[in-house]
Amino acid sequence: MTAWGEAPASVEVERPVPHGAEVLVRVEAAGLCRSDLHVMDAPPGALPYRLPFTLGHEIAGQVTDLGPDADGVAAGDRVVVYGPWGCGSCARCAAGSGNYCDRRDTLAWHGAGLGRDGGMAEYLLVPSARHLVPIGDLPADQAAPLSDAGLTSYHAVSGLRPALGEGTTAVVIGVGGLGHLAVQILRATTESRVLAVDVREDALALADRSGADFSTLMRPDTARALRARSGDVGADAVLDFVGTAQTLELAVGVLRPGGELAFVGSGGGSLTVAKPGVLPAGFRLSLPFWGTRHELAGVVTLARSGALRVETEHFPLSAAAEAIDRLRRGAARGRTVLVP
Ligand code: NAD
Ligand code: ZN
Ligand code: ZN
Repeated sequence: MTAWGEAPASVEVERPVPHGAEVLVRVEAAGLCRSDLHVMDAPPGALPYRLPFTLGHEIAGQVTDLGPDADGVAAGDRVVVYGPWGCGSCARCAAGSGNYCDRRDTLAWHGAGLGRDGGMAEYLLVPSARHLVPIGDLPADQAAPLSDAGLTSYHAVSGLRPALGEGTTAVVIGVGGLGHLAVQILRATTESRVLAVDVREDALALADRSGADFSTLMRPDTARALRARSGDVGADAVLDFVGTAQTLELAVGVLRPGGELAFVGSGGGSLTVAKPGVLPAGFRLSLPFWGTRHELAGVVTLARSGALRVETEHFPLSAAAEAIDRLRRGAARGRTVLVP
């Protein structure tokens, strides 16, 4: 990212040298997220990031070099990168919850590839080995998307899990990079029935392959169709991976009293909380951001057990512009992965 509001540029940079506790990772794969488009489209001043920086917040690769104070990993280790680098010293960061760093509002970054140099490059400098989770022989294109699409979905589902016992219903809105993994994580870690909604037929096919019990196009009567599939009571939880006025209206319209909404997508929509109002009685809302390092290890374990399969489309890093264009046009399926 060299200028706000402009397409990212492909430039030559020096291969970084790790100092202190830093670790150098040779990137094997980097996922492309819709959040990257939100960053590219952000007007100047909307995000606290300083330019230039390298995009790419979903990264897997191999450790090549260690700073003199780095420990806990060795050259040759294959790893996925925990991306929400916070301040590194608050209680949240120390506990592996950099996603909710106490100094978030004072930082010029939200993590790797989000204000700090990220993984759409041959090499990535990681501030500390504690941001690395071993992946063993998991293919890099499967591992990289786990670090955001997988982790964010896992974290969102973790918050909803108490509400998703036997006989319950979860609705996933938007079956793209995050959504298709959320369907799989719901299937693998909760007992709920999983219903999926998208605006594209091929995304519904992906939802079905991911284990959804039912999938449907976004239409004026979708709330009714989903309600019928929930045994006529409504959904216990909705995960909205789009976040527009339209999808939030569907989410609120389909929730059962006491139901819970995980508002994940940054689609620009908003909700008004008022009493009396249109929100169901007992409504609960969460705004999950990314996830914890511990949860990333959990996602990797799930993937290594065979419970998660990331549907990927591959592009060489040199064709990043084409990959970005496809995602923007809604032509990408599952997760787009860039390979240096
Ligand atoms: P994606 O483009 O891969 O997937 C989005 C899906 O939503 C697509 O399948 C698309 O067809 C579908 N969709 C679009 N409009 C729809 C509508 N009106 N109704 C139903 N479906 C619709 O995007 P992604 O990479 O999975 O990211 C999803 C969202 O989550 C983005 O806004 C992204 O910025 C955000 N995000 C948030 C976090 C977080 O921590 N909160 C982390 C990563 C991504
Ligand atoms: Zn992302
Ligand atoms: Zn912190």
